[in-house]
Amino acid sequence: MSRMSNYCKPCVYNPKLRTGETACPFTTLYWDFLDRHKESFAKNHRMSQQVFGLNRLSDLPQLKERAQEVLEGLQQGSI
Ligand code: SF4
Repeated sequence: MSRMSNYCKPCVYNPKLRTGETACPFTTLYWDFLDRHKESFAKNHRMSQQVFGLNRLSDLPQLKERAQEVLEGLQQGSI
């Protein structure tokens, strides 16, 4: 969203971060979703570049942890 507008500017989250407490939940959940469905997405040539981008993420284990926290926080209403 930050590339298309400045709506993220006053937000408490940082859209450029994938991990950590100030990481944008949408960024974290985007990469988590992509990782969980990478086998399916890899079959679609329009998504292959995004799936390939997963290989560049050195912080994938931390991202998965943060994604779990975000999903739990959403269920509890704390995010
Ligand atoms: S939650 Fe993420 S996408 Fe939404 S305004 Fe904040 S930084 Fe931007």
